[in-house]
Amino acid sequence: MREIQMVDLKAQYEKFGPEIDNAIKSVLVSTAFIKGPDVKLFEQELQEFMGVKNVVSCANGTDALQLALRVLDLKPGDEVITTDFTFIATIEVVALLGLKPVIVDPDPGSFNISVEAIKRAITLKTKAIVPVHLFGQCADMEGIMELAKKHDLFVVEDAAQATGADYIFKNGIVKKAGTIGHIGTTSFFPSKNLGCYGDGGALYTNDESWANKLRSIANHGMKLRYHYDDIGVNSRLDTLQAAILRVKLKYLNEFNEARREAADHYNKAFAYCSSISVPERVKYSSHIFHQYTIKVKDGKRDALKKFLETKNIPSMVYYPGPLHLQNAYSFLGYSGNDFPVTTSLCNEVLSLPMHPEMDKEQLDYITNSILEFFNK
Ligand SMILES: *Cc1c(COP(=O)(O)O)cnc(C)c1O
Repeated sequence: MREIQMVDLKAQYEKFGPEIDNAIKSVLVSTAFIKGPDVKLFEQELQEFMGVKNVVSCANGTDALQLALRVLDLKPGDEVITTDFTFIATIEVVALLGLKPVIVDPDPGSFNISVEAIKRAITLKTKAIVPVHLFGQCADMEGIMELAKKHDLFVVEDAAQATGADYIFKNGIVKKAGTIGHIGTTSFFPSKNLGCYGDGGALYTNDESWANKLRSIANHGMKLRYHYDDIGVNSRLDTLQAAILRVKLKYLNEFNEARREAADHYNKAFAYCSSISVPERVKYSSHIFHQYTIKVKDGKRDALKKFLETKNIPSMVYYPGPLHLQNAYSFLGYSGNDFPVTTSLCNEVLSLPMHPEMDKEQLDYITNSILEFFNK
């Protein structure tokens, strides 16, 4: 059996290595390393895939979030509501820009930001909501957009973990995760569902003027060459990464389908194991399983993780600590009991190996080992 990895980028490279090598080689030969033709072509191909009018590429997913919040022209002290249960980048950019992060609990089943909790956190100073489509399943965007409309708020979707996931509206309309709010952001970090071979990111918006401004800010605030209308940053997607992403985008649906099949395999195996909750599926979203995250009951999570290590099965805790208790954010003044849902999730969640290259032998070995742990 092939050694089990959380994400097996090596196995993936073995699948389409020559195609990737050719893409890289052609950039090397062209020497158009910055803003080469592949960048524009990748943006156009991703626009088509996402069904959105504008894709603006940038250097990473954290920059994408920062650029999105910059373009909304928020003022210092304006409040931005986001979830306690996410990767640090989501709240980091809010604080970096001098805005006030307002943290709320997620829903314990879907892991995504709770619409009820957002409702309770809205004040006169609230200007934006940043939902995260965690682990590959969309947050309740219809509920969030309704609140945003009522209170005149911007919505920036952090879709870093959900490239390719579908949101299904009550009326049957389907849109891609990241294209429903005012601006969506994503990351091409290597382990993401659509990952490059280094750092990369992008923004989605249907608004032409925001797209233009985002392009300008991401490139030193430059509109015409050497004329600067905004204070910008240097945040560009390398041509090499764009060329790699053009190859991988062609396989994204296939990869996401393979992840779903692996998830089905896990679900079936755990169906009668009362010590485990399998990931909840909501009716308004497809799931592309960026992570397959179970909840382990009765305080046995850490013991299970250790047991799996003895079997050479990696697993990860995403996320081990709530954001509101991180030292860097103590200035926000939250205390230990403020977000009970996140706190209990941090003690129960365990993400199992999940990637498109998992085979039946590996999946059986993992599920049998887990069932063995609980039957001991
Ligand atoms: C990965 C990730 C980011 C940041 O992306 P980088 O490209 O690593 O900067 C932001 N938000 C979420 C939810 C992520 O998973």
